[in-house]
Amino acid sequence: MKETIVLHPVPGFHHMVSLVELGKLILQHHPHFSITILVPTMPLDTSTTTSSYISHISKTHLPITFFSLPSIPPHQETQDHAMILEYMRLNASYVVDALQTMRLSSSVLALITSSVYIYDGLDNLHIPTYYYFTSCASTLAILLHLPTLHNQTTKSFKDLNDTLLHVPGIPPIKASYMPQPLLDRDGPAYHYFFNYASCMSKSKGVIVNTFDILEPQAINAIASGSCISNGATPPIYSIGPLITDAKDQSGNSTSEALAWLDAQPSRSVLFLCFGSKGTFSEAQHEKIAHGLERSNQRFLWVVKSPKGSTSDQPQLEILLPEGFLERTKGRGLVVKCWAPQNAILRHDSVGGFVTHCGWNSLLEAVSYGVPIVSWPLYAEQHLNAVVLVEEMKLAIPIDTSTSMVFCKEGEEEGLVSAEEVEKKVRQLMEFEEGKVLRQRSLETRAMAMAAWTSGGSSFTAFSTLVASWKQG
Ligand code: UDP
Repeated sequence: MKETIVLHPVPGFHHMVSLVELGKLILQHHPHFSITILVPTMPLDTSTTTSSYISHISKTHLPITFFSLPSIPPHQETQDHAMILEYMRLNASYVVDALQTMRLSSSVLALITSSVYIYDGLDNLHIPTYYYFTSCASTLAILLHLPTLHNQTTKSFKDLNDTLLHVPGIPPIKASYMPQPLLDRDGPAYHYFFNYASCMSKSKGVIVNTFDILEPQAINAIASGSCISNGATPPIYSIGPLITDAKDQSGNSTSEALAWLDAQPSRSVLFLCFGSKGTFSEAQHEKIAHGLERSNQRFLWVVKSPKGSTSDQPQLEILLPEGFLERTKGRGLVVKCWAPQNAILRHDSVGGFVTHCGWNSLLEAVSYGVPIVSWPLYAEQHLNAVVLVEEMKLAIPIDTSTSMVFCKEGEEEGLVSAEEVEKKVRQLMEFEEGKVLRQRSLETRAMAMAAWTSGGSSFTAFSTLVASWKQG
């Protein structure tokens, strides 16, 4: 019978991409395995991005099969974090049913999931469960330590503001920089993450998309058991960096952005991109534009519709300052909505990256040796930025303290000034500080590559992981 590894992503395009990349990695080293990916069906999801990606991967002739889980009837209007987690809980029995069916025709060696549930019934099937953590080890350390932090206060982290929290393996972090779903202890998402540590304790292992030299403190703290106070720590497998294959990224602006980069000098262009959801108010767009214009640097800027807009497509002539596009023509290019980030970051003309600090974006920058200006916006990005600046020393931080206001409805959001944008851009692209960062980024890139050579840390962790499947 064919030996199969079953992968189960949380709903969302990037989770699907991450798990497909993991599947491709497994097949690259163990082509005799087959991979089955369980596709969660979100009831209100009308986006075609995931389905067209699945169809693209299906045409690659890799032994990757997609198995759609049944849809769960909608009972809420929005698709916020808590609702996605609730759907994952409701999906759990479908996952067990699917595995039961698969076992009739193949030998299922392991289930790897980016969800956070214990799948009751899998013990009877003797299928070991592994968690795949798609963010950094530092965020994992926080989640595993959450029950301990919870017991140290009766307040929500959002109300503790600048109070420093101490988590083994990471620099002291302001309470307000905690990952977004954890900020409100009465919020529904908090409850789910609270159980993370106990779910993981019962698993066969946790696979993390990072590598030993990038986050040594966090990885060591987790592996030594310092983060989980009451319970065992499962084996941790740091197998990164695992990044999206540039060939699988698509978008209308692909040729325009890359063709423009081809015509620019080596390492001269600053790339600004804020992930799949990162956007700003109209006023903040204006400040960024002024900062870029004054910096005199070449730039490639991906602009999404501003906050509050009802249209998917930004109207650049209205959103950006009058005459900005004409004045910066030649030295700057603004791309609407989406650009092939991976291919752009590895282009020789790119010399710096302003990013929202999503973990995939950071791993891509690390993999191509591109120095960073960090501008965290949502999710766990403030934490990522702290680790990136203070521990990895790979970025210059934008001072977001003026914009980090928890706005009540009707209140005006704080803004990062044009002067701050100009200053940090010039530091990165022109000054000694940027040169030092560039050198360090190139060294980190070399370490990332070394982690995946024979005997390297990620290669060894991956081999140990695969060996554990064989032991059952
Ligand atoms: N991405 C891209 N083009 C864009 C915006 C994002 O290719 O215009 C890709 C980027 O390369 C990365 C992913 O989308 O692989 C974003 O993931 P990340 O974890 O950085 O941030 P998120 O979108 O989850 O906040």
